[in-house]
Amino acid sequence: MKILVLNAGSSSQKSCLYALPSQNLPEHPPSPIWSANIDWTVAEGRGLLKVKTPLTKQEIQLESGDRLAGITKMLNTLVEGETKVLKDLSEIDIVGHRVVHGGSKYSEAVIITPPVKEAITNLIPLAPAHNPAHLEGINAIEQILGKVPQVAVFDTAFHAKIPPKAAVYPIPYQWYEQGIRRYGFHGISHKYCAQKAAEILGKPLKSLKIITCHLGNGASLAAIDGGIGINTTMGFTPLEGLMMGARSGSIDPAILIYLMREQGYTADQLNEMLNQESGFKGVSGISADLRAIISAMAEGNQRASLALEMYIHRLKYHLGGMLASLGGLDVLVFTAGIGENSALVREKACEGWDFLGLKLDTVKNNARPEDIDISTPDSAVRILVIHTEEDWAIAQECWHLRTTIE
Ligand code: AMP
Repeated sequence: MKILVLNAGSSSQKSCLYALPSQNLPEHPPSPIWSANIDWTVAEGRGLLKVKTPLTKQEIQLESGDRLAGITKMLNTLVEGETKVLKDLSEIDIVGHRVVHGGSKYSEAVIITPPVKEAITNLIPLAPAHNPAHLEGINAIEQILGKVPQVAVFDTAFHAKIPPKAAVYPIPYQWYEQGIRRYGFHGISHKYCAQKAAEILGKPLKSLKIITCHLGNGASLAAIDGGIGINTTMGFTPLEGLMMGARSGSIDPAILIYLMREQGYTADQLNEMLNQESGFKGVSGISADLRAIISAMAEGNQRASLALEMYIHRLKYHLGGMLASLGGLDVLVFTAGIGENSALVREKACEGWDFLGLKLDTVKNNARPEDIDISTPDSAVRILVIHTEEDWAIAQECWHLRTTIE
């Protein structure tokens, strides 16, 4: 079975193709047989397409900013040139899309039908940077591949069971009735990591209280009780919660009112400042990338040091919140760019929890761990580093849904 996965962002279009047996899913995530990425930020009205197969790599300049033309070109590399892995595009059995916002309607992945497309369209005001790009991808596949089944895998779905006490904001209730509530994001990754954690530990997911720390450019925590997401740090939008690469995370909302009243900031300006000019980038004045922050710290840069201290402080503060929601903890998971690669962040995040019996093995922590337990044998909480596999998680959802519609 050939499963194409599309992961569309506001400025990029990632894609990969899995070749899977029809009978059983492989136990471990297989490598895709083809992967591609269009970067739309290289120049105004142009894109750069990079394609990779196990044997070859190719770069193609896209001379127009037309998204449909870009996706068509990208899919053509599946059937022609050095990166050809299929005889014909009709060999693709099913296409899975990561969809950032599914609102409160979808708690599972679904086959895309006209009402599902309508729901994704209606949610554009809540995800203006992402949902239009997902619709472009879905429409492009309809035009290029015709009637192939398409699946929407929502980043919000895993959080759909968060109870009202954690989902409703303490603001006028009619705003909740209009849809202003905690949705949560990174759900595909939180769900994958919780399942993988249970698998690594050889325990039933139902028996575990887990906190997953998805620490990438965007970052969020999830409190997962028996496999069900019961709280998360991101909220109505992916801006709430942890300090991030260029996003502020939670701040006093009155700061915005002050800036609008006293300094004349517009909504669009504030949106840009909080989403693109804050976090590591805003505090350090250097970069949104933790690696640049750590290099600057080594050269004695005080604001870089402050940025990292704040990041850890806020991470631990929110960890405490997730811990209280769970009322106990069996497993702490680190994942995504920072969670998987920064031993320093993991070490600092694990300091000060002795009263929980949480003990990090610093040797294991420093040994580039992947999908392993880095806690000491006598730790009361297992600490895992898990390589998140969002594309593989989407492919698995497609595989399961495909067998239901055959
Ligand atoms: P993601 O959004 O999951 O791709 O994460 C990207 C972020 O991970 C980058 O912006 C960096 O801040 C961080 N990152 C990646 N590799 C490392 C590393 N070796 N050390 C520290 N941070 C890293």
